[in-house]
Amino acid sequence: MTDRETPGDEPPDDLFEILLDPSPSGESDATLDLPAGFAVLDAARALDDLFRTQAGVSAVDLLVGGHRLGRSTRHQLIETRTVGAGDGATLPGHSGAYRIVVLGCAEPTCAARLLRVHVDERAMPACPNGHGSLRPVAA
Ligand SMILES: [Zn+2]
Repeated sequence: MTDRETPGDEPPDDLFEILLDPSPSGESDATLDLPAGFAVLDAARALDDLFRTQAGVSAVDLLVGGHRLGRSTRHQLIETRTVGAGDGATLPGHSGAYRIVVLGCAEPTCAARLLRVHVDERAMPACPNGHGSLRPVAA
């Protein structure tokens, strides 16, 4: 296991707040777990990709480098992003470089679901319910 709480571990950029839903209440469908140092714009693209490709996910808990930043929602990121954005279909320059990888539990009755980006080279995380390592699952 990697110790991500060592002294000097910088918290993520405050700019991540633009990706978060200001409303504190509500449930999340999954967790988007990004590695430390992940850029805000890259996180925006990853979230954009996530909400477009994962039909069952409309809100996620956003983690960067092990810091839980808050909750990001489909409504806030996509449905409210229409002013001056043309048809709002894609981010300018969206390359698909941050395709989302869905990790699920091997235990069929377990609902644990974690989302990462495919550039993430960290070891597979463990199921929070104690079923061993999560594995990529079909979207
Ligand atoms: Zn599990």
